[in-house]
Amino acid sequence: MVLWHAFNSLPTWHRKMVLILSILVMMLAAWPSERAVATRVDDNDNELAVEQQVDEEALLARAEPVTPPKPRYVTRQVKVRSGDNMGVIFQRLGLSTADLHLIDQLEGTDTLRLLRPGQELTFKLTQGGELHSLYYPHSLEQALKVSRKDDSFTARAVRLELDTREASAQGSIRSSFWGAAVEAGMTEDQIMDLAAIFGWDIDFAQDLQPGDSFRVLFEEKYQDEERVASGDILAAEFINQGEIYRAVLSEDGNYYTPAGKAMRKSFLRAPVNFKYISSNFNPRRLHPVTGKVRPHNGIDYVAPVGTPIMAAGSGSVVAAGYNQFNGNYVFIKHAGNYVTKYLHLSKRTVNKGQRVKQGQTIGLLGGTGRVTGPHLHYEFVVGGIHKNPRTLILPQAETLSGNALSRFKVQARQQLAKLEQPQLQLAQRRDAS
Ligand SMILES: [Zn+2]
Repeated sequence: MVLWHAFNSLPTWHRKMVLILSILVMMLAAWPSERAVATRVDDNDNELAVEQQVDEEALLARAEPVTPPKPRYVTRQVKVRSGDNMGVIFQRLGLSTADLHLIDQLEGTDTLRLLRPGQELTFKLTQGGELHSLYYPHSLEQALKVSRKDDSFTARAVRLELDTREASAQGSIRSSFWGAAVEAGMTEDQIMDLAAIFGWDIDFAQDLQPGDSFRVLFEEKYQDEERVASGDILAAEFINQGEIYRAVLSEDGNYYTPAGKAMRKSFLRAPVNFKYISSNFNPRRLHPVTGKVRPHNGIDYVAPVGTPIMAAGSGSVVAAGYNQFNGNYVFIKHAGNYVTKYLHLSKRTVNKGQRVKQGQTIGLLGGTGRVTGPHLHYEFVVGGIHKNPRTLILPQAETLSGNALSRFKVQARQQLAKLEQPQLQLAQRRDAS
C-alpha cells in the first residue's frame, strides 16, 4: 500500500518509466524459460523421466563439446491414436507380444485395455530394444506403472499429486454471456457450471441483459506447474437486471446462498440449456402466427430443431401426444399442483404415465403444430392457472440449519471476501497474459 501511494505521487512520466522498467525486468526474467528446450535424461531408473530445462544458448556457448553418458534406457513417448490398442502399440515399437501377454495377466492392468485417443504412454526400452517399463497415466490422478522383474513384470498404481490453487474471473455481458465468460478466461465446463449454479434463479436463455455481470472464485488443478484441469467453483456472484445472486459451495457439495438457502430448487428456470439459444436477449415476442402481442400463456424459446428439452422438475407425464395446434406435446405433473407443458416438439422421448426426473430429456425442440418457425412453447401452470415461471416464487428446497449453517456462514464470508479481493484478480490477469 505504501509503495502504491509512493508510486502514485510520482510525476506521470516517472510512473511510465517505472512501469516500462518493471515490464522489462519481468520480460528478462521470463526470457530463458521461453527459449528453453525440454530434454529427457534417462540414465537412471526414476519413477518418471526427469524433465530438464536446458538453455540452448548456454549449450552453444560452451567451448568444448560435452558427450553425455550413454543412457541405460531409451524412452519412447507414445500418443494413443484412434484404433490403437496395446497390441498395435507393441507392434509399432517392435516389442515382444509374449511380454504383452505377461503384462495382460497381471492384476490391475485392465486399464491398458481402455486406451483412449490422445492419452500418452511412456515406454522405457533397454539398449537392446526390450521393454523395461511402461508408464500409463490413465486419469488425472492415477497412473499405472509396469516394470520388468525377473522373468516377468510387476504392476502398481501410482497416485499423481495434483496441486489445487484458487483463481478468479469476472466479466460483464455486452452481447452474450458465453462470450463474456470466454473473454474472462473461463473454460466451457466452468461456464456450464456457473449457469447451472444460477440456473434455478436466472433463465440464462431469456433473462440476461447487457450490463449483467458475474464474478467467480474457482479451483484449478496443477501438475508440475501446468494447469491440467479446472476444479469446482467455490463461490460466485451474478448480477442479473440489477438483482444480485450469490452462491457458495458448501462442504456437502451443494451450493447455498450466503444465508444458507439451497440454490437448487424444485424447478429449473428454463427447460432448455442456454447454450442452444441463439440470442440471449429476447425482445418482447410477437405471437408467431397472429403477429400480435397477446397475453401469452407461456414462454417461447427459439433454438435449433433437435435441441434437447428438459423436464423443469421431477414428476410424472400426464399427457404425451400430437394435435394440430400443439404439434408433439408433453405435459408433466409435479408435486404441489404444478403442471409444466412443452409444445411443438419434433420428437417426444417420454410416454404418458412415465416418471421423469428434473433435467431429464423429454423431447426434442421442433416446429410441429401451429407455428411459423421452430421453437419450444413452455407453460407453467399452478392450480390450473398459467403463471410466468420467470417471475413466480418457486417452492424453496432445503435450507442449512444448526451447526452446518454456522460453519457454512463462516466459510461463505471467507469465500465471498476472496471473490471481492482485487489481488486475486490481478493474479488471474497475470496468468492470462
Ligand atoms: Zn408460444
